[in-house]
Amino acid sequence: MRLDIGLLFVLFFCFELIIVFANIQFENYSFLKRRIAKAKIVKCEVCSYVYFNSAITVYSKCPICQSIAKTT
Ligand SMILES: [Zn+2]
Repeated sequence: MRLDIGLLFVLFFCFELIIVFANIQFENYSFLKRRIAKAKIVKCEVCSYVYFNSAITVYSKCPICQSIAKTT
């Protein structure tokens, strides 16, 4: 009987872990989708290179001249 309860507990724990993991994956996916949707086109003021920047960061770095621009 004790073994059965232990097994049940382990199964429950595994199930919980799977749910939590799936939830994290889903959250990451939705977060990624939101990030892509909010991505902004930034034009560098130094070299006038146009690139995409995520809305999460306020500052964006130009991949060409490495200058930091503030996105509003
Ligand atoms: Zn630049």
